[in-house]
Amino acid sequence: MAKFANIIVDISHGKLDKTFQYSLPEKLQDRIEIGMQLEVPFGSRKITGYVIELTDTPEYDVSKIKPVIGLVEGAIPIESKLIALAYWIKRNFGGTFNQALKTVIPVKQKQKHIVKKIVSLSVLEVEAKEKLTLFEAKHNTARARLLRELIKQGSIEQTVITQKLNVSTSVIKALKELGIVKIEETTEYRNPLKAMEKKGYNLVLNEMQQRVVDTIRNDLQVGRCNTYLLKGVTGSGKTEIYMELIDDAIKRGEQAIVLIPEIALTYQTVMRFYNRFGDKVSMMNSKLSQGERCDQFERAKKGEIQIMIGPRSALFTPFPNLGIIIVDEEHETSYKSETVPKYHARDVAVQRSKLENAIVVLGSATPSLDSYYKAQSGEYKLLELNKRVAKKPLPECEVVDLRTELRKGNRSILSTRLQELIEDRLNKKQQIMLFINRRGLAGFVSCRACGKVMKCPHCDVSLSQHGNGRLVCHYCGYTTYMPKFCPSCGSKYIAGFKAGTQKIEEIVQQRFPQAKTLRMDFDTTRTKGSYENILSAFANGEADILIGTQMIVKGHDFSNVTLVGVLAADLSLHLSDFHSAERTFQLLTQAAGRAGRGDLPGNVVIQTYDPEHYAVETSKKQNYEEFYEKEIAYRKLMRYPPVWNMLVIMCYSKWEKAVDNGSKLIAQRLSEDIEYNKKASSIQVVGPADASIAKINDVYRKVIYLRTKDYQSLVDLKDYIEQYIRDNYDFSKVTIQFDFNPVNGF
Ligand code: ADP
Ligand code: ZN
Ligand code: ZN
Repeated sequence: MAKFANIIVDISHGKLDKTFQYSLPEKLQDRIEIGMQLEVPFGSRKITGYVIELTDTPEYDVSKIKPVIGLVEGAIPIESKLIALAYWIKRNFGGTFNQALKTVIPVKQKQKHIVKKIVSLSVLEVEAKEKLTLFEAKHNTARARLLRELIKQGSIEQTVITQKLNVSTSVIKALKELGIVKIEETTEYRNPLKAMEKKGYNLVLNEMQQRVVDTIRNDLQVGRCNTYLLKGVTGSGKTEIYMELIDDAIKRGEQAIVLIPEIALTYQTVMRFYNRFGDKVSMMNSKLSQGERCDQFERAKKGEIQIMIGPRSALFTPFPNLGIIIVDEEHETSYKSETVPKYHARDVAVQRSKLENAIVVLGSATPSLDSYYKAQSGEYKLLELNKRVAKKPLPECEVVDLRTELRKGNRSILSTRLQELIEDRLNKKQQIMLFINRRGLAGFVSCRACGKVMKCPHCDVSLSQHGNGRLVCHYCGYTTYMPKFCPSCGSKYIAGFKAGTQKIEEIVQQRFPQAKTLRMDFDTTRTKGSYENILSAFANGEADILIGTQMIVKGHDFSNVTLVGVLAADLSLHLSDFHSAERTFQLLTQAAGRAGRGDLPGNVVIQTYDPEHYAVETSKKQNYEEFYEKEIAYRKLMRYPPVWNMLVIMCYSKWEKAVDNGSKLIAQRLSEDIEYNKKASSIQVVGPADASIAKINDVYRKVIYLRTKDYQSLVDLKDYIEQYIRDNYDFSKVTIQFDFNPVNGF
């Protein structure tokens, strides 16, 4: 029975990032556990805080230690393992302990009883089927979709219908008024999906899958706790392996977490898990409120569910006996948090598995360089599935050289070959996807005659075009002027590369007036549900051509798509980011995988000014290993992750002078400390330089980055800098953020 509690107060502010000690009134002493939320006096106010330590030793004069006021009503006592995980996140990714805690533990709010609406059929199945035929004939696609699913499942929760089936409440109401469905309200908690009647699961793993499962089972038997990298093309049966391993875990009395990027968290994916595991499964997505998230977590703790599927935040599900964590599409950049703490869910999954003695399976068709590098070095165990389950041929992939097109006088964004194929597919009533990587619109400069790209001589990343004709490197600050003529071939066709989805849609409509187009990009997906609406409209054949950004290449199967066009592979090839080749390879491989998913064979056309680039060549051949060899050689040479580790220090301020001065001071301090500790040969300090967007909303942004082989020394330097700025007046107007091994540029 401890007498004192060290508490972290619930205020997200760097300066308060330390513990405060309070004494425990006798009646509370045997009730307090680590992780509980308490009410405490703070100055003249009353605030809440988390217990992170219990002790009998006072830190200072006992008479000055104030007593705890009481427990926060309805707070969830959090597992000490999760607190330990929060501590690890803070240590390794920066930010305050408070921010790390909030990442790991959802804030419990005073909660009304949530009323769940359950929609079910109010007519007999025969009649429902008749209506379905009617709706289908009238092209009432949303009504048909809802009815089809209700016939299959009997009843579905309303939020699932609106969020995952993309049927609006007005459609549900219309069916209710027609007397086809009824809506019932319940306050009792139900699963987001009513489990389907289990049809008896009788799929037998093939030999390759069985070998993978056996390897992991054998490892478990000898008590080896491991992280596995499962590399296998889409359709090779990875999900079946995940489910088999989860089944094992559940039989051992353990629980499972399945991370899936939000964008790939489709109804079909979730249903596969429901079909096998029924009520054991729950699902989480970013649309859930804090309260709903708490609900889910509470059910996990009580043992009501065994499997949690969701994006990044599902990783913190407080299961009592976690056995396995799956990270599907582990290369996805959305696993990296872009808010402080900037943690990577993959690394946190591995760390959590160590604390819980669980296993981790990372799955991907195009593993991140980081994970494959770790697999090569033996830190992860590599498992492979080399073939698709159903032996569908890979689509035929061709590369079109846009320089040749220009020489032949075709200045359109659509090459002659691509136009030919589009015409052909429109005639055959098959569908087409045209893809442009919007991410690249940051403004690199290239020559349309020879393909030359303006690059930084020091960092080998593309220079970005700024106002007043300057070209800037966002890694080191190198600046030069925009040339009038190509320094390589002398042509005047040198300019910033710009082409948006809207422009492309116009061009396509002009060239193919007979085609119906749909556009999917940031602008058309801003409203809730629009993303899924566009996808289901396209799946239902409501358009011939889908034009979009990288959103359209992820995880969706359209069986009638037989042509995929990548309009300018260069856009992602020349990001001012050392990941540009990796992103390009992943995007091209994924885009290519979109064609020929059904029974019809497919074609892929990759248009580029740089057809010899290894990312283009290897993705055309779908050869990951060859890509990896070339890319890792570049990373080694340029000392980029994963071979070296990188810490980016971002400095923000509304005052330009403050950020200028502050960033210079930090760089100088770092250099001095590194020199003093005689580490100058192994740690490099680069910058300060302007960030890729040097000013946002009147806030100036500068970056400094460090690189070294040893991650721990970066953590130490982060601590050193945090210490240095804490009480330094020069930083009163500057905000500092740390980003370890950034994945999205900076
Ligand atoms: P991935 O997750 O690698 O994309 P899936 O697990 O989704 O692959 O498998 C692709 C398809 O093949 C799915 O429809 C799945 O049901 C089916 N499938 C997977 N394994 C088998 C198997 N052993 N026998 C029959 N069908 C299988
Ligand atoms: Zn040129
Ligand atoms: Zn540079």
